[in-house]
Amino acid sequence: MLRDRTEENRRYRLRNPEKVRIRNIVTHAIRDGLLPSAKTRTCMDCGKPAARWDHYMGYSQRYALTVEAVCVKCCTGREIRRGNVGNKATKGNLARKVS
Ligand SMILES: [Zn+2]
Repeated sequence: MLRDRTEENRRYRLRNPEKVRIRNIVTHAIRDGLLPSAKTRTCMDCGKPAARWDHYMGYSQRYALTVEAVCVKCCTGREIRRGNVGNKATKGNLARKVS
């Protein structure tokens, strides 16, 4: 059975309003044909099919559409290297999984 993430998502949006806003800009750019879906690309890091656009320059308005296509695994690895994933307890576990 799938986990109901509604409450988790609501709290994430409250904690990360800038990320949500910038990701919406990407979503709308894809919808409007200004940016292809990341799924039509290959991962910049490993060459496998990409799944996401990575905001490698950060989540500022200026770099909203400065993105690289990456797969989920490489995106997670990038986020861990940036120190953006998990809490103190999970960071070590994720880092071990990726490396
Ligand atoms: Zn990859």
